Amino acid sequence: MIISRSKELFSAAQKRIPGGVNSPVRAFRAVGGQPLFIERGEGAYLIDVDGNRYVDYVLSWGPLVLGHAHPQVVRALQRAVERGTSYGAPTELETRLAEMIASLMPSAEMVRFVNSGTEATMSALRLARAFTRRDKIIKFEGCYHGHADSLLVKAGSGVATLGLPDSPGVPRGAAQDTLTAPFNDLSAVRDLLEANPEQVAAVIVEPVAGNMGVVLPQAGFLAGLRQLTEQHGALLIFDEVMTGFRVHLGGAQALFGVTPDLTTLGKVIGGGLPVGAYAGRADIMKLVAPSGSMYQAGTLSGNPLAMTAGIETLEILRQPGVFESMTATTRRLADGFADAARRAGVAITQNRAGSMFCSFFTANEVVDWTSASRSDTALYGRFFRGMLDGGVYLAPSQFEAGFLSTAHDPEAIEQTLAAAQRAFQAL
Ligand SMILES: *Cc1c(COP(=O)(O)O)cnc(C)c1O
Repeated sequence: MIISRSKELFSAAQKRIPGGVNSPVRAFRAVGGQPLFIERGEGAYLIDVDGNRYVDYVLSWGPLVLGHAHPQVVRALQRAVERGTSYGAPTELETRLAEMIASLMPSAEMVRFVNSGTEATMSALRLARAFTRRDKIIKFEGCYHGHADSLLVKAGSGVATLGLPDSPGVPRGAAQDTLTAPFNDLSAVRDLLEANPEQVAAVIVEPVAGNMGVVLPQAGFLAGLRQLTEQHGALLIFDEVMTGFRVHLGGAQALFGVTPDLTTLGKVIGGGLPVGAYAGRADIMKLVAPSGSMYQAGTLSGNPLAMTAGIETLEILRQPGVFESMTATTRRLADGFADAARRAGVAITQNRAGSMFCSFFTANEVVDWTSASRSDTALYGRFFRGMLDGGVYLAPSQFEAGFLSTAHDPEAIEQTLAAAQRAFQAL
């Protein structure tokens, strides 16, 4: 595989852009090699600047649930851009997208649009703190909620450990109100709530964790969080930036039948344009300015391009059978990976939820960050590079979810599984 043009572009980029990329994991550091520079996307495929073609399972890290450049989305965007790209004044589109979200996800009684998932979680926490008049929050190890200061915390070991920032530049003060518990560990959450009586504003969780691979909630975990937060007067926030309209048309909250107070969204609801949203109970959301006193604003929030792409995307996704078919294809792919690994004698644990999947290179069950981190990341790196050689673009890290789109047809899946068979054998 020739990637000479990507190499040239990467070395130029590194002179002007830190690490040559505008988001760290794009740099391929976890798997070795160098990033591919992309020329275009077509449905399920990515084409790099050297003309190599790959089946794409990154899909811009989740948003492209219809694949690249879906004709209907492109046409709607073309029409929208001719009318102007942003007005800084309300449009009907914002209400339409909010209504579509509420109809698929009834807990989203009111919605505020922002420009990224990071902004959504940051704002949802401010809202939870304003509503409860409490400062502390509980998050889970291995859950990512964007890069806001108070959320860049995983805490070392031990449930009672106070939050320590993961990154230089995060003030100790910004992290000290962030308590952490292991994912799927209800009793750790109970202990934290009891040790901090009437101080915890919210528990925030990825209901299916998608930023440490794909880790499913065990039976009763989400319902237990619902019960504990109610008991202790804290709000429950589902961060569905990734899982929203990915694991189920109604999000993880529909898949598991647990209703949060607030939900954060992003990725899919922007159809590939920058977007985020926080949503939930009307009595809480009414606290957001200007209807209430919690301040949050945005120059480009709810802009007509992002709203248009989101509306078209959800419109297509909710057609009868579309989501089910994508989920069935994902199951076929995940089963195929598991099968190919078994035949090659490579131990993997294959996790999946809706159109998200992950092959952990470990024999043990993966239920939290500790078990996920036992994966053989060097072996994943070799597998990743083998797949790339076979024309398949997987996430350049063991601890990322893979995504399918409605554009992934049987031919793409066949090509992927053939490549997987060779890549597993070569390990
Ligand atoms: C991607 C993601 C975010 C951050 O969204 P950005 O748009 O990258 O800021 C937050 N939470 C979850 C669960 C995510 O997957």
